[in-house]
Amino acid sequence: MSILVVGSVAFDTVTTPFGEGKEVLGGSATHFSVSASFWTKVKLVAVVGDDFTPAHRRPLLEHDVDLGGLVVAPGRTFRWVGKYGYDLNVANTLDTQLGVFAHFSPVVPEPWRETPVVFLANIDPDLQADVLDQVRGPKLVAADTMNYWIDSKPESLKRLLARVDVVLMNDAEVRQLTKEPNLVRAASAIRSWGPSMVVVKRGEHGVLVFAGEGAFALPGFPLEEVLDPTGAGDAFAGGFMGYLARAGAVSSDSMRRAMVYGAAMGSYAVAGFGVRGFEGISHADVTARVREFTDLTHVPAAEPIE
Ligand code: AMP
Repeated sequence: MSILVVGSVAFDTVTTPFGEGKEVLGGSATHFSVSASFWTKVKLVAVVGDDFTPAHRRPLLEHDVDLGGLVVAPGRTFRWVGKYGYDLNVANTLDTQLGVFAHFSPVVPEPWRETPVVFLANIDPDLQADVLDQVRGPKLVAADTMNYWIDSKPESLKRLLARVDVVLMNDAEVRQLTKEPNLVRAASAIRSWGPSMVVVKRGEHGVLVFAGEGAFALPGFPLEEVLDPTGAGDAFAGGFMGYLARAGAVSSDSMRRAMVYGAAMGSYAVAGFGVRGFEGISHADVTARVREFTDLTHVPAAEPIE
């Protein structure tokens, strides 16, 4: 099954203790699309300005992302400026310039409206809802968001969450949205608004997933070199949704496997600025990392202690 994604396509300027990326290709939909493209066909709905050149499109085209819904509008492409300290789990936003996104009304091309899997990557929740209004009978809808939208549009966000199956947010955002410090209680509050599954991203500490009666946890992959964590959450979502779309069915087992694919893709995203962490990565590399991940988390059945 293919995936329809709406989200930001951006120029990011990012400083970490290990370097700087200036106006590199980023944005939630970009990171998601590159990651999910390893598993399935991705159709992208977004807007860029007239400063977006053919060279900026190249990484997306190289991953065979369908840009049939990428509109070029007069004005400037979305820009985000962020900085990380040694705690790479905390992104400090220094500047957000919506540019052409401020006046964007997404239009899902008619042939894409029956796409079975929809990912609403981080962007204005009203634009995420506009896309949902146009699709017909999707089998799985997931959404991501961030503190910027929790601060500026909390009511729109809550209305959107009532319409999605899965929500992915980081731990600080889950607490901020619910005003509940305990993650278990915060996740149940969010589930009471609509989504049957809440994926809490915890940076290098991995993910905590609340679905059905219980919870499921995965660590982050232990990496020696992390250059830039920007986009790790979107790459996680790309692996997770890409695997589910490829598997074609959503069950408790496939959800758990999808998490491992998500974690593996997130581990590539952090290896470079922009989408460079994915340069030269093959399907076989990802499969090997998924296997390493399975070994990392495997616990042999306990012998009974008499
Ligand atoms: P992540 O690190 O996975 O949470 O997402 C990082 C990406 O989100 C960056 O490439 C930014 O361009 C993008 N981004 C930052 N702020 C916003 C925002 N307010 N709305 C949409 N996308 C954003």
